[in-house]
Amino acid sequence: MADESTTQYDAQTLCDNLAAVEQRIEQACDRAGRSADEVTLIAVSKTHPVEAIEALYEAGHRDFGESYVQEWQDKAAALPKDIVWHFIGHLQSNKAKYIADEVAMVHSVDRKSVMKQLNRRSDERVDVLLQVNIAGQGTKSGVAPDGLIGLLELTRNYPSMRVRGLMTIPPYVENPEENRGHFQNMRELFERAKAWLHENASEDADAFEHLSMGMTGDFEVAIEEGATIVRVGTGIFGQRDYS
Ligand SMILES: *Cc1c(COP(=O)(O)O)cnc(C)c1O
Repeated sequence: MADESTTQYDAQTLCDNLAAVEQRIEQACDRAGRSADEVTLIAVSKTHPVEAIEALYEAGHRDFGESYVQEWQDKAAALPKDIVWHFIGHLQSNKAKYIADEVAMVHSVDRKSVMKQLNRRSDERVDVLLQVNIAGQGTKSGVAPDGLIGLLELTRNYPSMRVRGLMTIPPYVENPEENRGHFQNMRELFERAKAWLHENASEDADAFEHLSMGMTGDFEVAIEEGATIVRVGTGIFGQRDYS
């Protein structure tokens, strides 16, 4: 195609893609006996242009996800202030200060150094999810499942963080059914962590309510297993070009 980029980010195309994903979310919720408003769809806009985000914003979408601090800063400066930004990328502790009070939620907290920086820089409480490496992949960020309670315990030292739940990135698979077991394990971990917060009289136990899991290839299975937040990039914006 001669003009592929124009086609990919055509406003109508983007809105149609968004509507199709929303419909699949509703159908997955139906199958699981859940209400569709229990699930938040984050449009993952990393590597995609400001104009593409604008088109979805104008269609009424507000939740967007970005993975790189500098890229997010540039986009946020050019876009409406009521966008609900989710930081979903691997976070270097020296960059945490740039997002602490600026994004609605940080999905990728997995170690002490990041907590420390988020806590130090944050004037308001910052909502975070703890990232779990559920499949034990060597290359992936996230705390090991058996380290989760320890990490949760540590969060008490950083009171300007409010832990809202868990996040995971399971392996890329062709058949989403292959990730169902990982999503079930996440749900179990989530219940265990929530029980721990209640047992330890945490003020934030009731606010611990999110399970951020499911991407383009597997979000329906994730919803069937209890996801409250799904992060869909390719399914809305098309392929990413990292060059
Ligand atoms: C890029 C990314 C996504 C979106 O992935 P798609 O497969 O394009 O939907 C979701 N979550 C995280 C953490 C990502 O980095």
